[in-house]
Amino acid sequence: MSFDSLGLKEPILRGVRAAGYETPTDIQALAIPKILAGAELIGLGQTGSGKTAAFGLPMLDRLFGGEPGLRGLIVVPTRELCVQVAENLRVYAKASGLAVCTAFGGVDLSIQESAFKRGLDVLVACPGRLIDHLERRNLTLEKVQMVVLDEADRMLDMGFMPQIRRIFLRLPQERQNLLFSATMPTEVEALVADFLPKAERVQIGARSQPPVTIAHRFAAVPAHDKQLALERLLHREPGRVLIFVNKKIGCERLGNALQRAGFPADAIHGDKSAEARHACLQAFTRGKVRHLVATDVAARGIDVDDIELVVNYDFPLALEDYIHRSGRTGRAGKSGRALSLVAPMERRLYEVVAAHLQGKEVPHVSRIPGRGYGMPKGRPGGRGGGRGGRGGGGRGGGRGRAAAAG
Ligand code: AMP
Repeated sequence: MSFDSLGLKEPILRGVRAAGYETPTDIQALAIPKILAGAELIGLGQTGSGKTAAFGLPMLDRLFGGEPGLRGLIVVPTRELCVQVAENLRVYAKASGLAVCTAFGGVDLSIQESAFKRGLDVLVACPGRLIDHLERRNLTLEKVQMVVLDEADRMLDMGFMPQIRRIFLRLPQERQNLLFSATMPTEVEALVADFLPKAERVQIGARSQPPVTIAHRFAAVPAHDKQLALERLLHREPGRVLIFVNKKIGCERLGNALQRAGFPADAIHGDKSAEARHACLQAFTRGKVRHLVATDVAARGIDVDDIELVVNYDFPLALEDYIHRSGRTGRAGKSGRALSLVAPMERRLYEVVAAHLQGKEVPHVSRIPGRGYGMPKGRPGGRGGGRGGRGGGGRGGGRGRAAAAG
């Protein structure tokens, strides 16, 4: 497979060569022809697989040769990502004459406004700053033909969902939407239902297995006994423990409860300020905090190799989350342990993970608002999460006795 066979125009292929890419990555080979043909996509999976070019190249291709003006909008959660995506796009756009601008906070609005006036075809923007520019009428979205929402789950974790909805409401009806997210929390599914109802879902990167150096244990624990079970466990653990929960509020609550019980614990989640998160990570890195309670997205910022144990206090809502969570231990070739506390209502989630760890093929399972843990529409049912789809209660997963053996 080469880039030449994907249907990109010559100036865009020159941009690919300028970037030094020879062969498309899997997501690029899959997504570029679909996006060129006008399809709407939801790309599920991690970054680092060439996602930026997967949406950036066909966007530039579709905008090439049209009337100048803001026609391609890429919304990203952070300033760093904004700069990085724009840098890549400028390389890809080199031979096309298309102008790529950025809009992120911390820089004078007028500097960005002057750049827009010099030429603007594609804007890479953080939600808050984009709204600032729209309110000052420095920009209008009325000519936008293509929109990319990147790292949607991170936007949610950073509290940007209301701004994202406001931006979508200001876009023209006729447009092509693309959304990328590592996971699909309920609120992101709701956004998809409202603004990208017809989009096709594609997996980015292989659904990997966690490193073989990790030992996985599952313990059946009723929900109301989980805190006690965790405290008993932490008393016996001398090393660093990363404890995962599914919600920010539960994260704060559990962190506080552990502190009150005398553990060297803290909590990290998207509602904490950047400074508080930084201080928390420093304390964890230095060993002052040994038990860190985290949400999935906040935990992505944790770059610590020697985490001895990962605890799933709440069972992850998607297989990918399980893989990423457990992958936080056993890094750099060391051995690691993952322990999941499985309440009766989490049994179906556990079955999906257990099937995957045993090498069985598991269909993509995500959470659908109001329907608990079920299959996305239009996908064949199958093993694991495919059965039932009724709210994750104890009834759906009635086979076998214990959720797992210790
Ligand atoms: P991304 O997932 O878009 O952040 O890309 C991850 C890294 O892979 C970036 O440094 C890209 O420049 C690079 N990259 C993307 N596509 C290709 C490709 N087809 N060949 C080689 N490198 C690539």
